[in-house]
Amino acid sequence: MADHHVADVLLLLPLAQLYTYSIPERLRGKVRRGVQVDCPVRTRRAHGLVLKVRPPSPADPPLVDVAEVVTTRPPWPEDLLELLDFVSTYYVARIGQVARAAMPSLFARRSPKPEAWVRIATRPDKLPRSPKDVLVLEAVEAAGRLELPAARVLVPGGADVVKRLLARGFLAIEEEEATPAPAPAAAAPVVVRPEPTTDQAAVLAQIGGAIGNGYKAFLLHGVTGSGKTEVYFRAIEQVVAAGRGAIVLVPEIALTVELRRHIEARFGGIVAVLHSAMAQGQRAAAWDAALAGRMRIVVGPRSAVFAPVRDLGLVVVDEEHETTYKQEEGLRYNARDVAMVRAKMAGCPVVLGSATPSLETFQNAHAGKVTYLSMPHRVRERPMPEVRFVDLRYEPPVGAERLFSRPLLDALSATIGRGESAILFINRRGFGRFVVCSACGAPISCPNCSITLTHHVKPDRLACHYCDHQVPVPERCPGCGSSEVAIYGFGTERVEDEVGRLVRGVRCARLDADTASAGGIDAILAGFRRGDSNVLVGTQIVAKGHDFPMVTLVGVLLAEQSLAFPDFRAAERTFQLLTQVAGRAGRGETPGQVVIQTFEPGQYALRFAAAHDFLGFAVVENRIRRERGYPPHSHLAAIEVSSPDPAEASRAADEVRDYLDQFLTLEGAGTRGGPAAASAILGPALAAIERIKGRTRMQVLVKTRRRAALNRALWRLYKLVGPGRGRTRIRIDVDPVSLL
Ligand code: ADP
Ligand code: ZN
Ligand code: ZN
Repeated sequence: MADHHVADVLLLLPLAQLYTYSIPERLRGKVRRGVQVDCPVRTRRAHGLVLKVRPPSPADPPLVDVAEVVTTRPPWPEDLLELLDFVSTYYVARIGQVARAAMPSLFARRSPKPEAWVRIATRPDKLPRSPKDVLVLEAVEAAGRLELPAARVLVPGGADVVKRLLARGFLAIEEEEATPAPAPAAAAPVVVRPEPTTDQAAVLAQIGGAIGNGYKAFLLHGVTGSGKTEVYFRAIEQVVAAGRGAIVLVPEIALTVELRRHIEARFGGIVAVLHSAMAQGQRAAAWDAALAGRMRIVVGPRSAVFAPVRDLGLVVVDEEHETTYKQEEGLRYNARDVAMVRAKMAGCPVVLGSATPSLETFQNAHAGKVTYLSMPHRVRERPMPEVRFVDLRYEPPVGAERLFSRPLLDALSATIGRGESAILFINRRGFGRFVVCSACGAPISCPNCSITLTHHVKPDRLACHYCDHQVPVPERCPGCGSSEVAIYGFGTERVEDEVGRLVRGVRCARLDADTASAGGIDAILAGFRRGDSNVLVGTQIVAKGHDFPMVTLVGVLLAEQSLAFPDFRAAERTFQLLTQVAGRAGRGETPGQVVIQTFEPGQYALRFAAAHDFLGFAVVENRIRRERGYPPHSHLAAIEVSSPDPAEASRAADEVRDYLDQFLTLEGAGTRGGPAAASAILGPALAAIERIKGRTRMQVLVKTRRRAALNRALWRLYKLVGPGRGRTRIRIDVDPVSLL
């Protein structure tokens, strides 16, 4: 088109701004959407991505010419560009912010400083001084080498530990060359592929039939150990044989060592695995290899959904229910949802796999938007573990800390005595406390929102952080009148200390967000696998896909810790966590048992988890969500308003609330009309974590049945208030997952 000689260009600079350039005669036809160009920026030059080529408009400022087309990088795939547009609109974010989240290393400093790594030095003739030293050394050894910043956060006070280890000659620094050599394209080694089970064959027939035939979404619901990975692999083989590519999303690459090993063995030189310990340079190299079509398969955590895989033929989301798919900072997108859109834009199938699918995906399957596939049996006929409840109302906890009941202690002693291992599961980190009645077992919850009230000190009270309902801490249970009400909430450290005091022969290791990080996890898990420790105390992290054949007992300290979580998804999370953690028991030849301590053994999430009955749980939970107007039967957005000054935060939050109310009314989705109203606005309320880094956090929550109207109202709000003014910050979270 002759008059199309203006280009909108996204500059690949840290600010990721959109600039407009004119296209000189000699470059017309070459500067196209998706191509990278070299452009003058003030006195320098910078690379940019062409997003649009169009006729000039009177609104354009005086323009300078694009300098050159970059020919070393092929154009970005059109489905990826469309995805960036979609994500920008849907999540109410500027395109630059989206692109930066999609490919951070392309927007990094222009001439990156060589990155520093630590590796094991020739070991001097002395021993490391502390357990922390040992942990760090093991982590570095396991990883081969670690980026310096990653090494510094392996353990609390890690920066000092690393400094000491460097000074004493245990560790050495090495600097990365500016352009890392790409991985050699090794020929795929020959591997033995297991013959598919009946379940696998049936599922593969359906997925295989969809490959090459446009967009189609599948929910692969397979119990733990049913062999979902082999299904993904065979589907990928078919895609690769047809000359196309695949994206495999995993919740957290550091936790999927096994998968990494298997996929590399199976697909050799055409797979790029992205993980958290990778340097920017390596990531950029992987990105380029995918863009050039050298890497046909990209495996990685959420940002891999934006990988520039060419001729995309399949997208896989493993453990689709995982909350780690939601990015909670910067661009707050959900990679599971974005993966479905990516597949739609590429015109290929997407497979969402899980043993405990999210209610959102379950509802999509129910509504026919997603095809439900099921693998109800474990490979090799291993039985599901036996689940037993300890009712804390009748078996009160003993010991100084009152964490363990007699039956759980007995089970632990017996397990250790047989030389087997146990996992003790704390189903959340030790912050946020709540009140439970030890007579009737009920946690105290908000009458408006049916979420558990959180205990706050100063002043001593219980508060709902959805609607701001507040009550004093009651002396008697509002349900049964008993005076046996107590405040609960504890963390891993107390459990680790106490189990060592109460059970003979325990060698305890602890795995939680403090001790975990790329190398930390590997080192701790390797120690547990070797038998250095025989009890592993941990949070969510221990629940994920590990295979520990020697674990025959899983103890859950207090089911209420996740059940009473102040979140409308608390029951769903509890069901998922208990199912996952139970899946860790009895993976070897000896059958496993699960012991769950709780005040409320009759609670439906607990009962269905014990019976390994996902569909039963989903049907009940789905009905409750519909009754209460929560997703998947409504759409949510959370607006977080924060400021160092509490009064300012509160004032700004009120303003946000009023604007939203009016914008929703303008869009015909207002809050008036009582229960029949299209939308409801909750709050402003103090967030459950009321202050972070000296800022007071308020939250406004919007619930609506009209997603498009909400999206337009949020854009009006964003254009009006932006990211906040002065010291006030405003963050829009569409389809929020964590509401803390
Ligand atoms: P899931 O992800 O569904 O929990 P995995 O994919 O981890 O299950 O598979 C569980 C185990 O079964 C793995 O050790 C895997 O190698 C093995 N496996 C998978 N498919 C087969 C098969 N068809 N025949 C034999 N073993 C299999
Ligand atoms: Zn009671
Ligand atoms: Zn409430």
